[in-house]
Amino acid sequence: MTASLSDLPLREDLRGLTPYGAPQAPLPVALNVNENTHPVPDEVASDILDDIAVALRDVNRYPDREFTTLRESFAEYLGHGLDASQIWAGNGSNEVLQHILQAFAGPGRTVFGFAPTYSMYPLLAQGTGARWVTGTRQANYTIAPEEAAAQVAELDPDVILLCAPNNPTGTPLDLAVVEAVYEATRGVVVVDEAYFEFGQRDATSALTLLEGRPRLAISRTMSKAFAFAGARVGYLAADPAFIDALRLVRLPYHLSALTQAAAIAALRNSATMLAMVDEIVDQRDRITATLEALGYQPHESGSNFVLFGGVTDPQATWRALYERGILIRDTGIANHLRVTAGTEAETTAFLDALASIDSAS
Ligand SMILES: *Cc1c(COP(=O)(O)O)cnc(C)c1O
Repeated sequence: MTASLSDLPLREDLRGLTPYGAPQAPLPVALNVNENTHPVPDEVASDILDDIAVALRDVNRYPDREFTTLRESFAEYLGHGLDASQIWAGNGSNEVLQHILQAFAGPGRTVFGFAPTYSMYPLLAQGTGARWVTGTRQANYTIAPEEAAAQVAELDPDVILLCAPNNPTGTPLDLAVVEAVYEATRGVVVVDEAYFEFGQRDATSALTLLEGRPRLAISRTMSKAFAFAGARVGYLAADPAFIDALRLVRLPYHLSALTQAAAIAALRNSATMLAMVDEIVDQRDRITATLEALGYQPHESGSNFVLFGGVTDPQATWRALYERGILIRDTGIANHLRVTAGTEAETTAFLDALASIDSAS
C-alpha cells in the first residue's frame, strides 16, 4: 500500500502545487520544449568524449568546486570584457535561477515577472518559500519601460525575472526596460537570455548593462542554441559580489567533473556547435510566414519557437497533431499554441500536418 501526498507532513506552502510536467512522449516529431533538435555534430561529440574519458580517470576525487576552467571558458565565450570572477554556472540555468532565489528570495519575500512568462519561475520561487507575483504586458506581449518601472515600484519585489526573449511568447525585450526596472527597484534584477543566440544578429545583450549595476545578473543556457539540453549546463554573469552570494547556497561540488569536462569541450567547439542556429532561425521565419498564410496569427519571435493565435480549439488542434506524430505545446494561453523550430524536415512535417487540420478561426 502506498501513501498519498496528503498523508505526509509536507510544507504547507507546497500543498496543492503541481510539478513541472511538459509531456515527454516518444513521438517522431517533438517540438514542444524548445530543444535544439539537431544532434551534436560527430566531430564535436568525439572531442567531448575524449575529455570526458580523461575526467573519468579522476572521478575518485571531488571535482574543482570553483569550476575555474569552465568559468574562464564562459567568460571568453560571452566576451564584453568579462572574467571568471563574474561567472557562475549550474546544472541548467534552472539551477542557476534556483541559486539566485535561494540567496535573494525565500520565505516572506516576493519574486516578480511580467505574465505570461516562463512557467518554471513560479515553481522555482515557491520552492524557496517565496511568493510569485506578476505584472502585465501590452496586448502584443511587449513591455514599455515606464509602465514596467511603475509596476515594479508599486509591488516592491525582492527579485525580478525578465525573460529576454520571453518564453512562451518569443517577444524580444527592449534593454530600456532593464534599465528602467533596475532604477525602480531595490531588488535583484535577472535577465534570462536563454534564447539570446536566436535573436537579431545585431541584438544587444543585457551584458552591456552590467557595469555599475551590482544587483543585475544575466543568465544563459547551453540547452537551446548549443544543442546541450541533456548535459544540463546553464550559466550567469554578474558582479563578483553577486557570485559570492550564490556560493552561500549551492551544494558543494554541484557541477560534476564529467559535466565540467563536457561543457569545456563543447565551448571549445562553439563555432561548430552554434552552426545550426542560422538554419533554425530560417525555419522559425518559415513557420511564421506559413502560419500567416494559413490564417493564424504568429507573434514576433526572437527565439527558436513561435507562439501563434487564431486557434479555435487549442486542445483539439494539439490532439490532432499528436495523432499525426507531432508534439507541440499548449501553454494555456487562450486560442494559442507554441511550436519549436525543428530541422527542415520536422518543420515541414508540422506545417503540412497543421495545414491538413482546418482549425484557424
Ligand atoms: C529553456 C529555458 C531555460 C533553460 O533551462 P535549462 O535549465 O538551462 O535547460 C531557461 N529559461 C527559459 C526561459 C527557458 O525557456
